[in-house]
Amino acid sequence: MTISSTPHFVIFPFMSQGHTIPLLYLSRILSDRHISVTIITTPANHSTIRATVKNDSISIIDIPFPDNIVGVPPGVEVTDKLPSMTSFISFVEATEKLQPRFEEVIRSLPPVTCIISDGFLMWTQDSADKLGIPRLVFYGINNFSTAICNIMAKFKPHAAVSSDDEPFPVPNFPRLKLTRNDFEPPFNELNPKGPALEFILRQHESIAKSHGMVVVVVNSFYELEPEFVDYWNQNYAPKPWCVGPLCVAKPPGPERFVEKPTWVQWLDAKLTANEPMLYVSFGSQAEATPEQLREVVVGLERSNVSFMWVIKSKQLMLIEDGFEERVKGRGKVVTEWVDQVEILNHEIVHGFLSHCGWNSMLESMCAGVAVLAMPMIAEQHLNARMVVEEIGIGLRAWPRGMVARGIVGAEEVERKVVELMEGEGGRRVRKRVKEVKESAYDAMKEGGSSWRTLDSLINHVCGHM
Ligand code: UDP
Ligand code: UDP
Repeated sequence: MTISSTPHFVIFPFMSQGHTIPLLYLSRILSDRHISVTIITTPANHSTIRATVKNDSISIIDIPFPDNIVGVPPGVEVTDKLPSMTSFISFVEATEKLQPRFEEVIRSLPPVTCIISDGFLMWTQDSADKLGIPRLVFYGINNFSTAICNIMAKFKPHAAVSSDDEPFPVPNFPRLKLTRNDFEPPFNELNPKGPALEFILRQHESIAKSHGMVVVVVNSFYELEPEFVDYWNQNYAPKPWCVGPLCVAKPPGPERFVEKPTWVQWLDAKLTANEPMLYVSFGSQAEATPEQLREVVVGLERSNVSFMWVIKSKQLMLIEDGFEERVKGRGKVVTEWVDQVEILNHEIVHGFLSHCGWNSMLESMCAGVAVLAMPMIAEQHLNARMVVEEIGIGLRAWPRGMVARGIVGAEEVERKVVELMEGEGGRRVRKRVKEVKESAYDAMKEGGSSWRTLDSLINHVCGHM
């Protein structure tokens, strides 16, 4: 392969929505830059990927998920799409069975310039080394949380406090005061051990033991978190290449010659009535407890604001009990898969009560919509700290006692929803999010920081061949 022939990138996303969607946007961006793209996935994800990519020049190849997976604990459903976070580690291990078929597929394709695969698909590093192809590791998270988790592991600042809710300053960034409860294990443990730690170490090892080129691609942009990009660049390898926010490359929604979905009709009606709306969604993985959902129900009901709540159908029964009837005309509950980016960009949506999944945060910024942060799992607590305390584009709905973890009471939901939609705090963060939106688009446009980083990355990879 020479630099002058068309580069060919193979993209292999992890099989959950939050990890797949940004890589599909990246595929579109690469295709627009005349790179030939092949996406590899499993059959259950094929149709969603095709519908999202909307670009016939991008090929999609399925690898069947084996049904005789050894070592998956009894009771864990085996499927080729992450069924729930409770089976996360077994699911990741099960993906290892895809390796022989993955390598066969790569060998059968026109020469591959590089493989971009999710950080969770560690075994693809081994494949890339075996096939002599560079691998770009996709991290669908930000530099802030990665840098801070590394600092925790290195300096153990949490050893200095005696309770999980006592704040400690973060070394190198002492203005940041965090608590152990802002982290998931193993990052908040003093002597970490167990499967979560082993999983993280395996990710690091798979990269470290590679003899080939390894590059980390991050869905963020330099201007959003310069100190944390610099910190990572100066202290850890491989370096982060910030090429986001990738959601800017989302293709336009469907042209609707038929009737619009009810949720779009609802937004349009609210626009006509000039009733600013709060969008509520806790993402595709986090499952709020029944107790937490009840508090949100009561808080939204008392707040008197207009809202649209997108919730998984299996959680709907937890919020029923006449709720929809009581908020009729003002609130709508949706259980379908929606086009979240379209909702956030609707003129009438003024706030987003969110679990702080990183894609949702970027999508909110790019739509200029302020956030009410209610983190639940994974690195969402750190994302909440970042968007509220560092970037200033949101307010926080605090669990009782103003601690990082616990139930957010109905009174707090009500108070913060009203503040976000009608108060001074809401006006402040809305003003700030408009500025951030502008810098996000600047980063992605031709000549912007993320545009240039991707350009350098393409040259770097092609020059490596
Ligand atoms: N999403 C969507 N429609 C839905 C629910 C979610 O389009 O009904 C998208 C959302 O726009 C985002 C992704 O799914 O791109 C969720 O990713 P995020 O990182 O916010 O959270 P996760 O679901 O991974 O916890
Ligand atoms: N970059 C990055 N991570 C790296 C190397 C580069 O994010 O490990 C970014 C860098 O911040 C800049 C762009 O990529 O925005 C171009 O970097 P490079 O060093 O390749 O310089 P250039 O090619 O523009 O001279």
